[in-house]
Amino acid sequence: MAVKLVLFGRQGAGKGTQSVLLSKHYGAPHISTGDMLREAMAEGTDFGRQAQQYVDSGALLPDEIMLGLITERVTHDDVVANGFLLDGFPRTIGQARGLLDITPIDLAVNLEVPRETVLERLSSRRVCQDCGAIYSTALPPASPWTCDNCGGEVVQRADDTPEAINKRLEAYERDTLPAIALFAERGLLVEVDGLGQPDEVLGRLIDAVDARATV
Ligand code: ADP
Repeated sequence: MAVKLVLFGRQGAGKGTQSVLLSKHYGAPHISTGDMLREAMAEGTDFGRQAQQYVDSGALLPDEIMLGLITERVTHDDVVANGFLLDGFPRTIGQARGLLDITPIDLAVNLEVPRETVLERLSSRRVCQDCGAIYSTALPPASPWTCDNCGGEVVQRADDTPEAINKRLEAYERDTLPAIALFAERGLLVEVDGLGQPDEVLGRLIDAVDARATV
């Protein structure tokens, strides 16, 4: 059955890692707005160049642009057939309202990890610049720094600098917490503890989603 899920969590909470695992588990396409923007930037399209200045500084793109991207993405056949797992969207109250206007949502999950923990995780995070697979200085690919999945180069993200990290975490507190509150008001939110090994966290997420009768 097609599930429509939103995954919230501050930067470094493990959203990217868990989204890939959950998307496999439920067979629902993983839609990461950060990955979509990084692809456009790597392709060097006009849109990618426009996005670059926001992304590199850690600022959010305007709501209309992001809503346009998502409105288009959810019309694709894979989403119509299999639902979606949204990662990194919505990030503001405007995006949250816009999303709920274009599609119903089964459940939003807030992956909770304290700010002190994410700061450590982000400074040691490394990503494959081709497929987006996530590693860390503590858990590097088998052959440093070549991606285990695709052979791409594994690097530190340009926006994983202390300045950009702080700016993104501030934007999360200021802009994204109100979006999460909207899902809570609608009875669509569950909180899940994001501390622990990735497979333990995945188990908790699956339990939370399966506990909803609608799924
Ligand atoms: P992180 O969660 O670590 O900030 P993402 O990969 O989700 O990383 O996003 C990277 C950047 O892409 C953000 O800092 C922002 O500039 C832009 N971005 C991604 N999603 C959105 C969104 N929903 N609204 C506005 N900007 C976004």
